[in-house]
Amino acid sequence: MRVHACPVRFYYEKSETVAESDRYAICKQLSYHLGNLLDSEDIWNEISTVRPAIDPGQKDFLALCITACNKHEWIPAKETDVRVVSKKHGLSGMIDRITDDGAFFIIRASGAMPMGTYAADRLRIAALALCLEEMTGSEVAGGNVVYIPDGVVRYHEVQPRDRRQVIATLHKYRSIMDGTVPEPPLNAPCNRCKYQEKCAGSVGRRLSELL
Ligand code: SF4
Repeated sequence: MRVHACPVRFYYEKSETVAESDRYAICKQLSYHLGNLLDSEDIWNEISTVRPAIDPGQKDFLALCITACNKHEWIPAKETDVRVVSKKHGLSGMIDRITDDGAFFIIRASGAMPMGTYAADRLRIAALALCLEEMTGSEVAGGNVVYIPDGVVRYHEVQPRDRRQVIATLHKYRSIMDGTVPEPPLNAPCNRCKYQEKCAGSVGRRLSELL
C-alpha cells in the first residue's frame, strides 16, 4: 500500500521497518473483544503486556474507542489474524477478523471518512479478496474496514478498477525491489511529505518531459 501512495517514498524507505504505533496497538487489541464485553481494564492489561512501554495517558484514547465501539452491534470473530496468500500473484496478507457468516474485516486506527473508505483501504480489501478467492475457490465480492476510533464499519465491494490497481501496484513494487528508481507520480501526496526538497527537482523534470 505504501507503493501505491507514492512509489518514490517507498523507494526512499524500503529498507526501513515500519514501527507499529500506540494507537494501532490499542485499536488492534480492542478488536479482539468486539462482540463481547469491552472491559477497559482487561483490554488495557493486554495492551500493556503487548507493548510494555506504552504511555499510560493513551488509556484515554482506549476509553474513546470503547465508547465509540459500544454504539455498534458486533458479531464475535470466528477467527482472527488469518494469513492469506495468492501464489498466482505472489501476494500475502493478514485478515484481522472473519465472522461466522464468512465476512472479513481489516482494522484501522484512523477515523472514518464521512462516507466510503480511503483509497488505500479499498486496495487492501481488493488484495485480500484476491488471496481469499484463490484459497477458497469462490468469488469474494468485498470486505469490511473497521475504523475503531469512530466505531464504524464500512463495507467495500471490490470493483474491477481495484483489482487492476492491485496488479499495477504489484508490478511497481517488483520493479522497485529489482532496483528500478521510480518516477514521482503526478498526483503524489507531496504536500504532507518530508521528502519535498529531495523530490522538487525530479517533479519539475517529469512535467517538462510531459508538456
Ligand atoms: S515529495 Fe512527493 S513524490 Fe516525493 S516522496 Fe514525497 S510524496 Fe513522493
